[in-house]
Amino acid sequence: MTQPIFGTLCVIGPGLIGSSVLRRLRTQPELVGRLIVADRDPAVLDRIRHLDLGDVITDDLQEAVKDADCVMLCVPVGAIAPVGAAVLPHMKPGAILTDVGSTRRSVVDALAPHLRNDVPYIPAHPMAGTEHSGPDAGFATLFDDRWCLLTPSADASQVAVDRIADFWRAMGARIRVMDTDHHDTICAMVSHLPHLIAFTICGTADTLAEDMRAEVLDFAASGFRDFTRIAASDPTMWRDIFLNNSDALLSVLDRFSQDAAAMAKAIRERDEQTIVETISRGRRIRRSLLENRQA
Ligand code: NAP
Repeated sequence: MTQPIFGTLCVIGPGLIGSSVLRRLRTQPELVGRLIVADRDPAVLDRIRHLDLGDVITDDLQEAVKDADCVMLCVPVGAIAPVGAAVLPHMKPGAILTDVGSTRRSVVDALAPHLRNDVPYIPAHPMAGTEHSGPDAGFATLFDDRWCLLTPSADASQVAVDRIADFWRAMGARIRVMDTDHHDTICAMVSHLPHLIAFTICGTADTLAEDMRAEVLDFAASGFRDFTRIAASDPTMWRDIFLNNSDALLSVLDRFSQDAAAMAKAIRERDEQTIVETISRGRRIRRSLLENRQA
């Protein structure tokens, strides 16, 4: 029989991501001996009980973490540091603290004064999600073939990094270890900017004159619909992501604005070559995503 990766795992914030981890663990019970689930919201805990996703289910965060070999924070980015600071003093020596936050630098800096030498902190960001949130939105296969980006500090315990990497591989993910700031720049480009654009396009459509807005909804299938799926994402989560990754996001937004202005210029000047080149780059990117099994 294989050894579990963790004897006891505590998941705090069992929403889309946390409940997907829990569901996966229910299908592979050999990975973790005991599942403790904690949240501040009694309605969330009721759903977790109903779905049978935890062995111990509690709103007492300090009690929840005290016997855990790994504590995984699955709360919104803005809550990771405060919740981490609250539970760290109650964790047992040698346990691992990890999270699944979508942004890194501000979280790592806010958590730094609270970290302990005997509790390694290994941030891990699974690049998987949907526009839905809450415990009913999760599913066991969410992480299959998706990347999970680990951003340990340079002096982090290699044993702890390997255990978190093993854990996410068992969730179905592929692992890449990278630097904190590099993570934030990449995610600003591939995730945060596309969300910003989707929210903005939906806002623009919504402020159109009444008659035109109705037609946008009627004929949405022509491309607008894909933006509305992304724009249906959770406001708290995305507020936190934008505010916590503001430097990297504003920098790629600036770059995007220049490229959009260049495209506008090409259209104005009827520069067919630039227009075709820009569209062809999009097609090439789509093709490589399909080849890389990320589409
Ligand atoms: P979610 O479905 O909204 O779940 C978040 C959970 O955290 C909820 O149960 C929420 O409960 C709880 N929570 C919030 N503040 C809390 C606090 N202070 N103390 C205890 N529990 C708290 O969110 P999610 O989509 O799973 O995202 C969770 C994390 O994963 C975020 O850091 C996000 O950046 C990251 N992530 C998300 C995606 C994605 O696409 N969704 C992808 C990768 C990573 P109540 O608010 O009801 O109290």
